[in-house]
Amino acid sequence: MSSDLLKALGLDATNAGTYLGNGEWSTATSAGLITPVNPTTGEAIAQVHATTDADYETIVARAQEAFKVWRTTPAPRRGEAVRLCGEALRAHKDALGSLVALEMGKSKPEGDGEVQEMIDIADFAVGQSRMLYGYTMHSERPGHRMYEQYQPLGLVGIISAFNFPVAVWAWNAFLAAICGDVCIWKPSNKTPLTAIASMRICNEALRGAGFPDIFFLINDAGTELSQKMVADKRVPLISFTGSTQVGRQVAEKVAHRLGRCLLELGGNNAIILDETADLKLAIPGIVFGAVGTAGQRCTTTRRLIVHESIHDDVLATLVKAYKQVEGKIGDPTDPANLMGPLNSDGAVQQFLASIEKAKASGGTVETGGTRIDRAGNFVLPAIVTGLKNSDEVVQHETFAPILYVMKYSTLDEAIDMQNGVPQGLSSSIFTTNLKVAERFLSAAGSDCGIANVNIGTSGAEIGGAFGGEKDTGGGRESGSDAWKVYMRRQTNTINYSDSLPLAQGIKFDL
Ligand code: NAD
Repeated sequence: MSSDLLKALGLDATNAGTYLGNGEWSTATSAGLITPVNPTTGEAIAQVHATTDADYETIVARAQEAFKVWRTTPAPRRGEAVRLCGEALRAHKDALGSLVALEMGKSKPEGDGEVQEMIDIADFAVGQSRMLYGYTMHSERPGHRMYEQYQPLGLVGIISAFNFPVAVWAWNAFLAAICGDVCIWKPSNKTPLTAIASMRICNEALRGAGFPDIFFLINDAGTELSQKMVADKRVPLISFTGSTQVGRQVAEKVAHRLGRCLLELGGNNAIILDETADLKLAIPGIVFGAVGTAGQRCTTTRRLIVHESIHDDVLATLVKAYKQVEGKIGDPTDPANLMGPLNSDGAVQQFLASIEKAKASGGTVETGGTRIDRAGNFVLPAIVTGLKNSDEVVQHETFAPILYVMKYSTLDEAIDMQNGVPQGLSSSIFTTNLKVAERFLSAAGSDCGIANVNIGTSGAEIGGAFGGEKDTGGGRESGSDAWKVYMRRQTNTINYSDSLPLAQGIKFDL
């Protein structure tokens, strides 16, 4: 199965490594090997060569050369390049979606959905390529014109997490590309194959149409090369998606060299259910949010804050729904399954450790919370009650399917609980009370980057700016005006008069 898939996507020993541009792949061996493991079976899928320092230098030099051409290529023409990438991804959606499911462990429909997100952001970027607008201003000086323009920034380093192994790259790379930038991608070392496949698909589409190389790929067996790129002044923007812990280190390094950072870090997302909530909508929203992708989405629902009057009924319904999911946990490449494995054995250990911690803090495991006795990294998703929002285990993002269910009595209390964690990514409320919904969305409501009403916390569309506040890092990617982070802003003043009046009426007569 895996060898057929790799073949269908053109992956073989000649490209199991670093993309150097010019259609060349390096499989230099001196930086070691990366072995992605199938989380369903625990078996190695293939081996990928890590990038050497020498190859990194080649890539940076080539990317700098490519930037000189790309920055003066008209933006709509850059959009055409991204359109071709989107078309090529459409043609490979099924195979690439299957490889995402195989290597990362999410279900096949979610793997396909991730490739669809790449296609969607490609379409979005094509339109955006004709809309890189700046403002014009009225000058205070006669015979002067003022405006601002957005110019390409340069090289963009993209470091991505294992759980969205391809979409996060596309969110960044396609917008960066229409903005005139050249990208160097460092994927998670747990998911190098989907990265190589995406690179092959997009770069072949670009080369076939005579476009320069604008997408490069490096692999890192550890973190040394990633840290080198983070510290590299030749890379003005580092877009980092991953844990808060690593993101903080990255941000400090980039700040030290006064570079620009886009941070998309961990979440600890809550749903509030008020006493008027429509449970026909809420229950599936909660279950998908908590269990989808085996709890390995940054927007996964980790806390449920339920009005005390409906708490017991909601809990009983959820436990029943979880039992149904338990019958559909298995090989993620089988579309019949709703939940696949965790990505690594380490993630299973963290899941089990958090369950133990929850129990030690006085929590009750209402369902799940154990490892399934079979090959691979399968667990039973857990619901835990009896903990306080302030308990350490609840405050922390465990990247696994654990849902903490807590009670509240007043809306103020519920909003305080929702906001009372270090992270600020996604939030939602289920209510049929308009005043409650508006209160939740007001300045005194949710403090998250994403706040939803009557839909869950996960499953964002590409059209909105995506990201969160506080320990989530403050970055925004994807839709709305997120493109601006990939460009440098320039204010221009043109004097078409015959005199040189100074601003603020200052006189400087010679
Ligand atoms: P991680 O922080 O372990 O790794 C992320 C990336 O950083 C990987 O490519 C890794 O190889 C690299 N890395 C590790 N150490 C580094 C260092 N010192 N310098 C530079 N790069 C380094 O995260 P993960 O386990 O791959 O992903 C899960 C985490 O990512 C969760 O916390 C999740 O919430 C978060 N995430 C956030 C978003 C978002 O948009 N907010 C999206 C997806 C995942």
